[in-house]
Amino acid sequence: MRILLTNDDGINAAGLNVLERIARRFSDDVWICAPAEEQSGAGHSLTLNRPVRLQRHSERRFSVTGTPSDAVTMGLRKVMPGAPDLILSGVNRGANLGDDVTYSGTVAAAIEGALAGVRSIALSQVYSKADAGHDVSFAAAEEWGAKVIAPLLEAPFAPRTLVNVNFPPLAADAVQGIRVVRQGFHDYARGSVVEGTDPRGFPYYWFGLHGIEHTPGHETDLEAIQDGYVSVTPLQLDLTHQGSLEEMRGRFA
Ligand code: MN
Repeated sequence: MRILLTNDDGINAAGLNVLERIARRFSDDVWICAPAEEQSGAGHSLTLNRPVRLQRHSERRFSVTGTPSDAVTMGLRKVMPGAPDLILSGVNRGANLGDDVTYSGTVAAAIEGALAGVRSIALSQVYSKADAGHDVSFAAAEEWGAKVIAPLLEAPFAPRTLVNVNFPPLAADAVQGIRVVRQGFHDYARGSVVEGTDPRGFPYYWFGLHGIEHTPGHETDLEAIQDGYVSVTPLQLDLTHQGSLEEMRGRFA
């Protein structure tokens, strides 16, 4: 089995090393093609207005001066000798839950893989507020990563679907198990916009993450993580709201 690893935290991120150890439990044919620098929040963006550069760090380890989607594209088209059987993206430093998945470069890399017809899984390690600004423990991902990937290797993946996995911020032996759940939604109230003054006296604005409490819907990824479970959510790229099609067609008839 040939595996391509990528992420949005960059080639030097601790979570990528965790992911490599997980992947090597399944195969020795592991390739890495990741962004050269952190791309958290890049979503599914492509670099179109400047060239990207590819750097080879070792035989099967590469970085790209672009987004996670760029890295997957380069991995598939320029780096690997043939198509991978599996793309793993992560392990992200921080949650990719609920409606945050569309901001996520980690999830977007798996979306890019799904579009290319490759079985693709995004993996993220949630951390507690106390760990913000510090090294984050990937203990749950390290221990539960292979347990969650193994059944997914045999599962049928419908075309243009991917799987989003989040690990709770717990010690490995405190994790309650694995739940397959739907995507939840945060309360809309977004996180902070921090305003400050730069060293030259000009104002700047810096987006913070949501510090907002929310009540997770039942059987959602948000609830599973709150309850101490690993969340597994199949996602689809067809964003069509089926329930609105007929009603809206009537308005244009
Ligand atoms: Mn990230």
